[in-house]
Amino acid sequence: MDFSDSPAEAEFRARLRGWLADNNPGLPASSTSDEYWAGQAAWHQALYDAGFFGMSWPVEIGGHGLPSVYEAIVDDELATAGAPPRPSLGYLVQGILHHGSEGIRRRLLPGIVNGRDRWCQGFSEPEAGSDLASLRTTAVRDGEDYVITGHKVWTSYSDAADWCLVLARTDPGVPPHKGISAFRVSMRQPGVQQQPLRMINGITREFGEVLFDGARAPAADMIGEPGEGWRLAMTVVSHEREPGELGYVARYRKAVKELAALVAGSPDDYGPEQRRELAWAMVESEMLRQHVCRRLSDRLDGSSGGPEGSVDKLLMTQVEQCVGHAALSVGGAAADDDTWLKLYLYSRAQSVMGGTSQIQRNLVATRILGLPAS
Ligand SMILES: Cc1cc2nc3c(=O)[nH]c(=O)nc-3n(C[C@H](O)[C@H](O)[C@H](O)COP(=O)(O)OP(=O)(O)OC[C@H]3O[C@@H](n4cnc5c(N)ncnc54)[C@H](O)[C@@H]3O)c2cc1C
Repeated sequence: MDFSDSPAEAEFRARLRGWLADNNPGLPASSTSDEYWAGQAAWHQALYDAGFFGMSWPVEIGGHGLPSVYEAIVDDELATAGAPPRPSLGYLVQGILHHGSEGIRRRLLPGIVNGRDRWCQGFSEPEAGSDLASLRTTAVRDGEDYVITGHKVWTSYSDAADWCLVLARTDPGVPPHKGISAFRVSMRQPGVQQQPLRMINGITREFGEVLFDGARAPAADMIGEPGEGWRLAMTVVSHEREPGELGYVARYRKAVKELAALVAGSPDDYGPEQRRELAWAMVESEMLRQHVCRRLSDRLDGSSGGPEGSVDKLLMTQVEQCVGHAALSVGGAAADDDTWLKLYLYSRAQSVMGGTSQIQRNLVATRILGLPAS
């Protein structure tokens, strides 16, 4: 398999590299700092305005209509330049692209792609995480609106979001997953309260919980048909699980490069165990890079989505946690810099967000290996 750039890809890479030389915002990694979250919107908009965001999305919504290998080039170059990763919105865009009407797609997607409208994802609830179909938030029709009542939790970017993609029950009289619909709900209205949740690594801006108490969403802002929310959610999570989509591979490679530079800078300070942990993280992140290249190549051949995302997610989790261990081992002891400790702590979340590792294994067992469900 030849993964080298075509002439057009090489030209794009060089142009991006030139732009990054003057436009790197110098933000820390998303996983380690509130400062990243404060600067993320401006970074998204700068990437978009310069023509380096939404490379594989349709032109009608502000994308560039190019093969997804261009997204991988962006991720690669951002990591090489030490720039922050691109915001990961692919799951949201794909969910609306696949399930929204033509009108919804044209109305909602350009603002998401250009970074002017900030969204969060209101799926999980205190009693409905892995078992998402048991969610209790309701949406009741009232004239031209739906009235939303319920409690969402672990809602990433809830403090900065203008809009929330809410899953709510519209029909309690049918099997649980058939009675759910998806809505765009304004976060800036009476009846919506959000409260940041502090993560173990000290970050307060990444996620929160959101209470809807009689919030309103116009019926015209339902995404998909009534009862189609479950299918939309499955599209969203299957895209959330692909490391290529999220640019994570590049993020891991950036971390191991920085750790390797620490060791190279003062080799006498690091023992064989630390070197072994780092070497293993390098091997693992390179393995994931190759895997993502293969998956992107499959996508160029026309395959997309599906249960294979669970394999991607399991691999991604394994690699992130391996890099986290190396970060703790090599950089974690520094008394005056807790960046690496925070990276380690954040890596623990990877086996939970976007569906836990146990759930991914269940999906691999039943949907790829064809084993019985219980
Ligand atoms: C950093 C981060 C960001 C997140 N962002 C968002 C967001 O933006 N929007 C959103 O809606 N949600 C978000 N989540 C929530 C995430 O999707 C849920 O935490 C996840 O789906 C697990 O749900 P839960 O926490 O309720 O755990 P539970 O479902 O209660 O699971 C508890 C434990 O039981 C295990 N378990 C449960 N069911 C089974 C089963 N059938 N078989 C085997 N084991 C099982 C799980 O694997 C887990 O170990 C985020 C989570 C994190 C950590």
